[in-house]
Amino acid sequence: MEGPRVDIDEELSRLLTRLRLDRTEIARRLQFLQWNDTDAARLNAAAERLEPAHRLFLQRFYEHLQRCHDLAGLIADPATLLRLQHSQYDYYQRLWQGPYDRDYVLDRLRVGWIHQRVGVDTHWYLGAYRMYLDAMLQTLLGEHPQADTYASLLKAVFFDMALAIDTYNFAQSRALEESEARFARALRGANDGIWEWHVEQDRLYVSERWASMLGLSLESLEQSSASWFSRVHPDDLPDLRRAIEAHLQGHTASLRHEYRIRNRADAYIWVLVRAVAEVVGPGQHRMAGSQSDIGRRRAAVEELRHAARHDPLTGLANRAQLAELLSQALKRRQRSGARETALLFIDLDRFKLINDSLGHAAGDEVLVEVARRLRNCLRPGDHLARFGGDEFVALLDDLAVVGDAEQIAQRMLDSLRQPLHLHQQTLVISASIGIAPLTDEPGLDPLQAADLALYDAKAAGKAQFVRYNDALQSAAQRRLQLESALGQALGRAEFELHYQPICRLAQRHAYIVGVEALLRWNHHGEVISPVEFIPALEESGEIVAVGDWVLRQACHQVRTWQRAGQQRLRCSVNLSIRQLQRSDFAALVAEVLQDSGLAAADLILEITESQLMQDTAQILASLRELAELGVRLALDDFGTGFSSLGYLKRFPLHILKLDKSFISGIPEDPESQIISQAIIGLGRNLGLQVVAEGVETAAHLGFLREQGCELAQGYWFSRPRPAAGLERLFDGADCFEGLWCLLDERTNQPPPGPSHPDAAI
Ligand code: C2E
Ligand code: MG
Ligand code: MG
Repeated sequence: MEGPRVDIDEELSRLLTRLRLDRTEIARRLQFLQWNDTDAARLNAAAERLEPAHRLFLQRFYEHLQRCHDLAGLIADPATLLRLQHSQYDYYQRLWQGPYDRDYVLDRLRVGWIHQRVGVDTHWYLGAYRMYLDAMLQTLLGEHPQADTYASLLKAVFFDMALAIDTYNFAQSRALEESEARFARALRGANDGIWEWHVEQDRLYVSERWASMLGLSLESLEQSSASWFSRVHPDDLPDLRRAIEAHLQGHTASLRHEYRIRNRADAYIWVLVRAVAEVVGPGQHRMAGSQSDIGRRRAAVEELRHAARHDPLTGLANRAQLAELLSQALKRRQRSGARETALLFIDLDRFKLINDSLGHAAGDEVLVEVARRLRNCLRPGDHLARFGGDEFVALLDDLAVVGDAEQIAQRMLDSLRQPLHLHQQTLVISASIGIAPLTDEPGLDPLQAADLALYDAKAAGKAQFVRYNDALQSAAQRRLQLESALGQALGRAEFELHYQPICRLAQRHAYIVGVEALLRWNHHGEVISPVEFIPALEESGEIVAVGDWVLRQACHQVRTWQRAGQQRLRCSVNLSIRQLQRSDFAALVAEVLQDSGLAAADLILEITESQLMQDTAQILASLRELAELGVRLALDDFGTGFSSLGYLKRFPLHILKLDKSFISGIPEDPESQIISQAIIGLGRNLGLQVVAEGVETAAHLGFLREQGCELAQGYWFSRPRPAAGLERLFDGADCFEGLWCLLDERTNQPPPGPSHPDAAI
C-alpha cells in the first residue's frame, strides 16, 4: 500500500505552528545559547579557511556510514551518495556563513523532517554531529594537549544527549500511545466505525470497524470515496451527498445523516454517519467522523411507526393510517386521467350481541375472521382499515366506474354470510355496507358520505349495501334537527299515544281483548313514527322519562275505558331495557297501577327479544318483581333476535309476540309459514300465549286460525288510532278496516250497527 503523498510546505508550516517557532521563540532560543553577533562574525571569518577540512570530513564521514550496515543501503547508489554529500556540504557552508534567520530555521526543519521520514534515527543524527565537532576540533585546535580529552568529553556528552532525547521521546510517545489506546477502547465501546476523508484529494481512510460493520475487510476497500458511495442505497445517495455538501458549505454545524448502505451479503443496513469538516489549506477540506449501525434502532422505530398506524387485533391499517391513505388517494384523484375511487363503510350487524352473549374473546376472534374475509374480497392495491369496534373501511382505488364498488360490496356480503365456526358454535354473521365515491367536492367528506349510506343500509333492514345519494344527506340533516327538537318534546307535550286493538280470534268472530299503546310524536303538525325517534331517545337516556309517561298515560286511558264499559280490556305497553335496568322500576309500576286503578293482571309489558339479550341481574330482578305484582310480560318481535330458547325458561314470560315479518310472508313464503307454525306450537307447548303481529289480509287470518293461534293484531283489524278514534270502535260507530268485531267476548254477539260483508270469519 503506497503511503499518501504529503505536501512538505504544508507540513512545515504546521510544524512551525506546533513548535510555536515564531521570531520571539527563535530569539529566545538563541539568547539561551548566549549567541551574539560576535559568534556569527567569528564563524563567518573562519568559513573559507575550513573548506578543505569539510571536504575531508565528508569523505571520512560517508566511509564511516558505509561501514555501519544500517544506513549503508541508503547510500549504496553513487548518484545518491554524491547528492547527499553535496547537500551536506551546502549545509556546512550555511552553518558557518549564516545568516541565521527564519529561512535558516525552515531549512533545518525541512532537513530534519526528511531525515525522520526516511528513517534516520536520532542516535545517528546526533552521532554525525559528534563526528563533525570532533573533526572541527582537530582542525581548529590541532595538536592542543587537551584536544583528546575534549574529544572524549564530546562523546560522553552526545551519549548523554541521546539518552535525554530518548527519555523525552519515550515520555511523549507513551502519552500518545495511552491516548491512542484510550481512543481505541472508546471506539470499541462505541462500536462505531471511524472515517476520515480528504475531500479534494479524495483520499478516504476508514477504520477496521467501519469495514467490518459491512462484513468487509479493510484491504477489500479502495481508499477513495467511490468505495463508500458505490455502496450507498441509490435512493439515499442524493440526500447523503446533499447533507455532505451542506456541511462543507457551512450550512450545518456538523454532518449527521441516516442512510442505507450495502453490506457484503448485498443487503442494505441502516447507518448513521456523523462528522465535522475542517479546512486544511486553501480550498482544502478534511472530514472526519464516525459511522454507527442503527439497524436495531430503526427497526424499533419502524415497529413503533407500524404500531401507531395499525390495529393490533387484525393487523389492518387503523384510523390514523386510513386518514393518510385517504389524503393520498385524494391527491391522486387530482391527476389527469385518474380513475374512480370509492369508500366502503362496513359495519357488522348486531355484533354487540356476539360480544354480550359469547364474551369479548370470542368477539375478537370473529373480528379477526371478518377482517380476513373482507381482505380476501379486495383487489391488489385496495386498502382495508379497521375504523373501530366492528367497523371497517375499504378504499377501492382505480375503478372504471364507482358502480364496480357494488360488486366488491356484494362479494363481501356473500363471504361474510358463510357460517363461522367458533368453539363448537356456528355463527351466521352479516354486515351492512355504505358506499361513497371519493370526490374532491367541497363540503362532502367521503367517510361521512359512506357512513350516511351505511346508516341507510341499516335502517333498510341490514345485511345489504346502499350507495350514497344526496337525499341521504338531507335525511341525516332531518334526523339531526329532529334529535335536537326531541329533547323538548316531552316538556312541550308533543307526545301522544295511539292504540291498536289486540284481538282474540273466536270461531267466526274476533273480539278486542286489549290495546297496545304506541307512541307518536306530533312535531310541527307532523306525526312522527317511533321507529324514527325511539333509538335517539334510547341513546340519550330520555326513553326512561318518556317511557314512564307512556306507562302512566296508557294505564289511565285503559282504566277510563274499562270504567266506561270495556271492563276486560287489557293494556299493552312497550318498555325499553333502560327502564328495566332501574332497581325501582317494579315499585313505579305498582304506584302507577294504584294511581290509575288498573288491575295488575290487565297490564302487559312488552320487551323486544333483542333488548332482552342484554341480560343482567338487574333486568332479571325487575322482571321477577313485575311478575310477582301480577303484571304479565310479553316477548316482542319474537323470532328476529338471536333467539335463544334458554331465555324463554329463564325469564318469567307469559306471551310471545310473533314478529310481523313472518306473517307478511304468508302464504307465498314457505319458510315464513314454517317458522310461524313452529313459534305458535312452541308457545302452546310452553304454556305461553302467542299474539301474531302484522295481520293485514284475510289469508293471514285464515292461516292463524288454521294454526290455532288465538290472538292477533294488525291493520286487518285496525291501524293504531288516537284514543278518540278507538272509542268510535268501541261505540260500534266505526268498523275495523276490513271487518267489524264484538267488543265483549262474553256476549259472543255482534254489536248493533252496520253489518260488514266479510263479517263472518
Ligand atoms: P311493536 O311493539 O312491535 O309495535 C308494533 C308495530 O307494528 C307498530 O309500529 C305498529 O303500528 C305496527 N303494525 C301493527 N299492525 C301492523 C300491520 O298489520 N302491518 C304493519 N306493517 N305494521 C303493523 P309503530 O307504532 O311504528 O311502532 C314501532 C315500534 O316502536 C314498536 O314495535 C315498539 O317496539 C316501539 N315503540 C312504540 N311505542 C313505544 C313506547 O312507548 N316505548 C317503547 N320503548 N317502544 C315503543
Ligand atoms: Mg310491542
Ligand atoms: Mg312487535
